[in-house]
Amino acid sequence: MLPETDRRVQRLTIMERISLRTIYRDNGCWEFHGHANTYDYPQIEYQGRHQLVSHIAWRIMKGKKIRNGFQLNHDCDNPRCYNPDHLYEGTQADNLRDLRERGPQTYFPKSWDSSNELPEPQPPMMKRRFL
Ligand SMILES: [Zn+2]
Repeated sequence: MLPETDRRVQRLTIMERISLRTIYRDNGCWEFHGHANTYDYPQIEYQGRHQLVSHIAWRIMKGKKIRNGFQLNHDCDNPRCYNPDHLYEGTQADNLRDLRERGPQTYFPKSWDSSNELPEPQPPMMKRRFL
């Protein structure tokens, strides 16, 4: 038997569950602060498996799947962001082109409040590898 709060959370839609762990930034980023994979891309359990939060939000809010051979790249360079307006379907080559053109980013905005309990900003692993 799950505690009452867990059962309540289970009744929420997936987007409601995601929003419980989101910080909405002034720059439009919707940052998910829950579990993340080794590249700092947030994941949540949905339909029985761990899925990328950005992929779930894209499918639900855009109403379509990511095309075969494509991935979701960030225009905002914030791996924790899942705002579909900050994402585009692209290739890994596009991702690397973004990195060349924009350089490695520190993705937390200057308004970051270090007094809260969220993790310290880290450069995305994917980008660090190509420095
Ligand atoms: Zn963003």
